[in-house]
Amino acid sequence: MIKYSLICDQEHNFEAWFSDYDTCQKQLEESSVECPLCGSKKISKSIMAPNIPSKSNQKAPKSDVKKVEMVMNKIKKHVKENYEYVGDKFPDEARAMHYEEKEQKDIYGETTVEEAKDLIEEGINVQPLPSLNPKSKN
Ligand SMILES: [Zn+2]
Repeated sequence: MIKYSLICDQEHNFEAWFSDYDTCQKQLEESSVECPLCGSKKISKSIMAPNIPSKSNQKAPKSDVKKVEMVMNKIKKHVKENYEYVGDKFPDEARAMHYEEKEQKDIYGETTVEEAKDLIEEGINVQPLPSLNPKSKN
């Protein structure tokens, strides 16, 4: 015996037992299945089958978030290991290097959006990064 979720043309969902798949198909084609709620004989198999993994659909965005987090963490790790932290002196340091007053090196630090805009307008290559405070635990 197989239990099928069925739906009538009035969108009533109900379940019915059939000896096998073919019997179910046959009875539906012959309109020998009746909706227990309204008596309609226009019955089809419900698309709300219990085996459709709706949970995995919900998980998809979560795993995307995880991926983004992983990439962010990689960037953070790379920057922390290879770049020098200059804190809020970042705009000064970046400017000094751009105008060759200082030796070129990879730095990271904090700046305001306004300062970052000024730097970009001056042709200084700055990149926004995920939160990179070295004091933070991650
Ligand atoms: Zn019905």
